[in-house]
Amino acid sequence: MEEQCIQDICELTGYQRGALPFRYLGVPISARKLSITDCEMLVEKMATKVRTWSTRNISYAGRVMLVNSVLMQVHSYWASIFILPKKVLVNIIGICRSFLWEGKGNSTKMALVAWDIVCRPKQQGGLGITDCIIWNEAAMVKYVWNITKKEDNLWVKWVNHVYIKDQSWRQYVPPNDSCWYWKKICTIRDKFAAGFVNNGWLTQGENILKLLTKEQLLKLKISQDSGCLICGNQVETVEHLFFECKLLEECLRRMVVWMQRGTTKHDLKGIWRRITRGVHGKNCREFITAVIAALIYKIWWARNEALWNQRVPTPRSICVQIQQECKARIAQLINKKSSRKEREWIDQLYRKQ
Ligand SMILES: [Zn+2]
Repeated sequence: MEEQCIQDICELTGYQRGALPFRYLGVPISARKLSITDCEMLVEKMATKVRTWSTRNISYAGRVMLVNSVLMQVHSYWASIFILPKKVLVNIIGICRSFLWEGKGNSTKMALVAWDIVCRPKQQGGLGITDCIIWNEAAMVKYVWNITKKEDNLWVKWVNHVYIKDQSWRQYVPPNDSCWYWKKICTIRDKFAAGFVNNGWLTQGENILKLLTKEQLLKLKISQDSGCLICGNQVETVEHLFFECKLLEECLRRMVVWMQRGTTKHDLKGIWRRITRGVHGKNCREFITAVIAALIYKIWWARNEALWNQRVPTPRSICVQIQQECKARIAQLINKKSSRKEREWIDQLYRKQ
């Protein structure tokens, strides 16, 4: 922009001209990656606090409290906004560590216990001090989450417009020339995606087509192979897992027999329509819906058991679980107003067991 134009705008709007980097709410705002010098202020702030405390005689327990409540709070404010340079985080750990063991901020003495043990929860033999490297990454997940949730804010709109465009966020791979922060956020997304699978946790509003199956994980370079963990011989796609896998087929066959629904084809496609044919009563149909939903959930659970605990639940155990869990559901649905036919149908399902 031309100099004259800039001056005109300033005059017209009454705004003062600023320059990057500047400080906003106590943190530096910059167009480039935060440098170690930019963070000096943060490290100095912590060091100053430690210097004041070091003149007093504080017990170990007191120092643990101070590290956790004061030093970590100073750090977590910055760490919830930026990805801090590794060197800065290492410096922060250094200050905390020497204050904890020596009561001052610049000790070079050997620590009595390794820092990663100190950072464990108290139940696991640590002191419950925040691991600031992990904390920093965990705090950045909120950006990943905001993009996933399509949060209505300027930044999300901007990354969608500039980077993601029409691509799926789950599968998006950042171009090599994109900025360091953006690449880092994408790496954090991949790291935490594995955690989503581990917990069998699906984000709200997502359908099963977005599940992180092994085919997806292979693409994201999280998994080394793409085989189905349950039957072992097919590529684990959503299609395979929920429509073709032997485990699903066997469970579905058992459930169809249990509910005495004569259907010739045992697959999930169109099953609800076929299986509810001739069933009277809204409650009974709702019960069947609950059984199918539970089956889909259990297949995903079985797959995660295979992935994380190296065991594949048997079709029998899966079906028994579904029957038990749906029993509670039907107990809620069936009441005095239910027809005799409805009650009889449900009764005999559970009498047979
Ligand atoms: Zn399979």
